[in-house]
Amino acid sequence: MPGFLTEAHDVATKKCPVCDWEIKEGGQSVKVEGKTVVVCCDECAAKVKADPGKFSQVKG
Ligand SMILES: [Zn+2]
Ligand SMILES: [Zn+2]
Repeated sequence: MPGFLTEAHDVATKKCPVCDWEIKEGGQSVKVEGKTVVVCCDECAAKVKADPGKFSQVKG
């Protein structure tokens, strides 16, 4: 069944900036300082809101 191989890997895996876990389907999007930060769950979303500057920065 060759058709199965083509569709799987087009979504990059993200990591939660709070706890460093991989975010699968159903991650939480939090808007802070004009950016959208995607985290793994409600608890991490609350941490981002509590300290937005810490988690909205993009590491170089
Ligand atoms: Zn997290
Ligand atoms: Zn979490």
